[in-house]
Amino acid sequence: MRIVGEDKPLEATEGFCDAIAQASGQEIEACYQCGKCTAGCPMARAMDLMPNQVIRAVQLGLKDLALDANAIWYCAGCETCASRCPRDIDMARVNKALARVCVREHRRPKDPGVAAFHRAFMESMGRWGRAHEVEVMSLTKLRNSAQRFRDILLGGMLFGKGRLGLLPHWVERSARKVRAILKRDAEAA
Ligand code: SF4
Ligand code: SF4
Repeated sequence: MRIVGEDKPLEATEGFCDAIAQASGQEIEACYQCGKCTAGCPMARAMDLMPNQVIRAVQLGLKDLALDANAIWYCAGCETCASRCPRDIDMARVNKALARVCVREHRRPKDPGVAAFHRAFMESMGRWGRAHEVEVMSLTKLRNSAQRFRDILLGGMLFGKGRLGLLPHWVERSARKVRAILKRDAEAA
């Protein structure tokens, strides 16, 4: 099936909706586009495709559209959408399942800043058991030349007010658990 989008026809991928439904454990077909998830999403303003639009893209099998959405990476996993959804759909799980497909297929997020932040955050979590903000910030900036000097003043201000610790808090037990989760995730991907 070919669907005409704004710029170019979009190809529907057979079985994509079923695969994401199975991977996320969510009944995606049950969504009737009420939009409550989007209305309550605290990250919606930053997203190029709203949560209900991501679900619609998945329902239609529009794999590229769904996997290119920055919503997958911007989703904070806050579960506000899940608590509002009349069909009990948990968007955070759907986004996670979509992100797994991206990782498995070596697709990079369209926004290089998102890719750099995601990688730095996961590395820091695996290393220390919790995110070390200075490390995450530094690695993100180093790997994303377009935004290397953005927020430098803000970082300096936070540091000056003692809101950013120079040294990480190392929680070995948590680090081990996080590494196990990351390993399991990588194997499932
Ligand atoms: S709240 Fe649920 S049913 Fe409504 S659009 Fe979002 S996912 Fe679909
Ligand atoms: S879990 Fe993700 S999609 Fe749902 S409301 Fe929170 S940020 Fe938005």
